[in-house]
Amino acid sequence: MNKTKTLKFDTNWSYSPAPESIDYIELKDRYGLFIDGNFTSSKGGNYFDTINPANEEKLSEVSEANEKDVDKAVQAARQAYEKVWSKMKPSERGKYIFRIARIIQEQAREFAVIESLDGGKPIRESRDIDIPLAAAHFFYYAGWADKLDYAFPGRSTKSLGVAGQIIPWNFPLLMAAWKIAPALAAGNTVVLKPAETTPLTALKLAEVIREADVPPGVVNIITGGGETGKMLVKHPDVNKVAFTGSTEVGKFIMKTLAGSGKRYTLELGGKAANIIFEDAAINQAVEGIVDAIFFNQGHVCCAGSRLYVQESVAKEVISKLKDRMNTLVIGDPLDKNTDIGAINSRMQLEKICKYVDIGKKEGGSIYQPSCTLPEKGFWYVPTLFADVSQSHRIVQEEIFGPVLAIQTFRTVDEVISKANNTPYGLSGGVWTDKGSKLFKVTKEIRAGVIWANTFNKFDPGSPFGGYKESGIGREGGVEGLHSYVELV
Ligand code: NAD
Repeated sequence: MNKTKTLKFDTNWSYSPAPESIDYIELKDRYGLFIDGNFTSSKGGNYFDTINPANEEKLSEVSEANEKDVDKAVQAARQAYEKVWSKMKPSERGKYIFRIARIIQEQAREFAVIESLDGGKPIRESRDIDIPLAAAHFFYYAGWADKLDYAFPGRSTKSLGVAGQIIPWNFPLLMAAWKIAPALAAGNTVVLKPAETTPLTALKLAEVIREADVPPGVVNIITGGGETGKMLVKHPDVNKVAFTGSTEVGKFIMKTLAGSGKRYTLELGGKAANIIFEDAAINQAVEGIVDAIFFNQGHVCCAGSRLYVQESVAKEVISKLKDRMNTLVIGDPLDKNTDIGAINSRMQLEKICKYVDIGKKEGGSIYQPSCTLPEKGFWYVPTLFADVSQSHRIVQEEIFGPVLAIQTFRTVDEVISKANNTPYGLSGGVWTDKGSKLFKVTKEIRAGVIWANTFNKFDPGSPFGGYKESGIGREGGVEGLHSYVELV
């Protein structure tokens, strides 16, 4: 396998390189589809490359599932559902899910490195956030498998059947865990399709599932692009569709499923407001802003991409934010010092560039710290726009990159109305010393999750999901189980 080169950046801060070793990572040159407990080649025989976005080198090639493959995977899931998984004692199902969780923990380092290689995110994020949280989701839902009657007191539950699950590229293994763990705990079987730019940790998860001796067909993992996703959504033998991705595709799925009787949950885009009041702990808030939008290259659906600062502290906050932006380390995703890794794909980089041009044309004042980016790979510097208004496209539309739009406000009511004024409603953040303000603002903002004096904190026990164009249904917690059962 090709090794990543250590990248050099001109930042004001220089640390000695501390790259995570990739010597012990074993990637196959080519991956088949994981169907009925085995890796098989696709019927059409097509493969596509998955590359390292930090240097554009090919990591491996993966199968592109066609209609026949999708059908084969769904039929395998159906057989496993009818004959094995739905008939198994719930405590036995729980044992398999616990096993998956433990093996992920054992192989956490390999998972983290592959996640950073394939997706471009800093190893610090994949190592400390993505992989531990993915294992935590399997642990959490394993515990529910034999306690479903307690999850919904007074009701009993019935599993739905086969779940078709489609996930994006920003948290590949974590999104797979969000989808697979509750579905299995509730007694369903699954066909999961990872994003085309980040299939490798899902395929490694397939190996873990085999190692855990999960009965064949209970989990099937098929790779491919949007066309494969479409086939899965449309397959007549899928009982539930769970989708995480863009609002555009979410709307398409909703239209496709209308009248089909299939259940669905949609976790879609966001444009979170991060609100800083004058009585907030400013230094802490500045760190929260950076965490909310710049870490993980802004590739976070709940990223705090709109900043609202109370006028009296705006100058101080923006000045401290610019100082902090100058200390961020952009570079090799595998380096433990890296704050901001590579943009996931050329397509995503082009989208970010397009929006930054739009922001400039709309009259925003742009600030970017100076640094030299390498010619190879996909990179973008953390960027902020001041002097923008609510109607600007960079305030209204999801960019999904490290681009922050800043506005000021004077009153609580004004900021609530501005925060609610986008088509999205996924998340938000509020920074203040006053409990009364926290309660008022968090109650009145229409978003699925709002963090108080922190940002981007997750727990498997806590539900996540959107209002408005950010989606339908919840994942995580007991609500996440509810999405995979019928209450009788
Ligand atoms: P995307 O919608 O382009 O793709 C997501 C997945 O859907 C991929 O696996 C893709 O192959 C598949 N797909 C594409 N077209 C399809 C179709 N017509 N039918 C079925 N499947 C199809 O999104 P993306 O660019 O991969 O991911 C970024 C988006 O995901 C952002 O909008 C982000 O906000 C959102 N997201 C939301 C959450 C959440 O929990 N709400 C979490 C992560 C990402």
